Amino acid sequence: MFARPLIDSIEFARNGRTLNGEIAVVDLPRLAESLASSEGSIRYTVQGMQADGMSFLLLDMSGICHLRCQRCLGDLVYPVDIASRLQLLEGVDLMQDDDSDEVDGIEASKELDVLGLVEDELLLSLPFAPRHDEGVCELASKSLGKADDRFGMLAQLKNKF
Ligand SMILES: [Zn+2]
Repeated sequence: MFARPLIDSIEFARNGRTLNGEIAVVDLPRLAESLASSEGSIRYTVQGMQADGMSFLLLDMSGICHLRCQRCLGDLVYPVDIASRLQLLEGVDLMQDDDSDEVDGIEASKELDVLGLVEDELLLSLPFAPRHDEGVCELASKSLGKADDRFGMLAQLKNKF
């Protein structure tokens, strides 16, 4: 088992710290549960910043998730490329968070679980009912039973478009 990185979120923002890492999808159980396969990994960068007296975490994530197509139930290779700006909220701010701004707020913590945050943001941003593009389902179902042929399938898709 690896150590989960914990950050003191306000201090992290105040000092403009940065944290990089990579996490295997299989180590994000809530996410893995909702995917067609727990293969792949996600690279992430968390950067702290302050602006206008407020504290923020900038979260960048990239990698590959295997979603399940809701039309053919085949494997849908989904490239993750997410950038979120999260405002750290404390006490009174937290009460006043009314979801009306474009910036999402999260509760500031002295021991913020970075991987939990990465997992939450991934779960929020992945499409709820993903589908292959028109005409691709047939291709995907042809390669069913050939679990090792995902990359071949990707190559086919690339050639097609
Ligand atoms: Zn499909």
